[in-house]
Amino acid sequence: PNLKLSGKVALITGASSGIGAATARALAEVGAAVVLAARRRERLDTLAAEITAQGGRAAVVAADLAEPAQARDAVTQAVSAFGQLDILVNNAGLMLLGPVADADATDWHRMLDLNVLALMHATQAAIGVMKPQGSGHIVNISSVSGRGSGPTSAGYSATKWAVGGFSEGLRQEVRLHGIRVTVVEPGVVATELTDHITHTATKDAYEGRIAQMTPLEAEDVAAAVVYAVTQPQRVNVNEILMRPLDQG
Ligand code: NDP
Repeated sequence: PNLKLSGKVALITGASSGIGAATARALAEVGAAVVLAARRRERLDTLAAEITAQGGRAAVVAADLAEPAQARDAVTQAVSAFGQLDILVNNAGLMLLGPVADADATDWHRMLDLNVLALMHATQAAIGVMKPQGSGHIVNISSVSGRGSGPTSAGYSATKWAVGGFSEGLRQEVRLHGIRVTVVEPGVVATELTDHITHTATKDAYEGRIAQMTPLEAEDVAAAVVYAVTQPQRVNVNEILMRPLDQG
């Protein structure tokens, strides 16, 4: 088997479903010890058991990452579990679409807390570990909505553009410490992401649109993450933008 990440430790946030779960499986398949973080402990335990049964190494961190202390502590727990941290995949996110005029401001706060601030806190904690190691890799899951925007995505796009801006500055700061930064920007992926949309008309319209297309699978995005983190250390894959063929 291809075990390019043998001896490496990866923390994946939002590993209880969708892209995060697929990424955890894919990183474990190439030999990484994986630390699975999210709120739904049962889901994480089931995934950890599956990875362990296949000969991998996995640990679980049940945490609400929207709480800054818990986002930072997830990094501490990853290091406690496996002694180091080589890869942080900041994947946990919410996409609460809706028109600006009608938006419940609570949705904006929830998205900013998780999509932006949790990512920033976890990243700061991780580079505190990675700098002394002299190597590391931060992978931030943004979106096509981090590159463009449109009706009903203003609030969500604001959070993903923030991820892009943070990642670019970070990349330039940490590269001389051997730390690489990658932003992955998928288009529509079939996951539970739409379940949480509170603006009903937008949710129905968006789900209707997905039903008319063949979206990406979570595994497709996981493969992009694996590509970025398995390149030789000299290669800093800055950005991967990917869409379903059906998405214009
Ligand atoms: P899912 O809803 O399937 O996964 C979201 C993950 O985030 C879950 O594991 C969830 O776990 C976790 N999460 C949510 N809130 C919290 C919290 N407060 N604390 C800890 N974990 C939390 O959606 P996706 O897999 O699609 O989303 C993953 C990322 O991909 C997001 O950043 C999203 O913006 C991005 N993305 C998705 C696209 C898509 O079309 N699906 C397209 C482009 C980007 P739990 O509920 O157990 O806490």
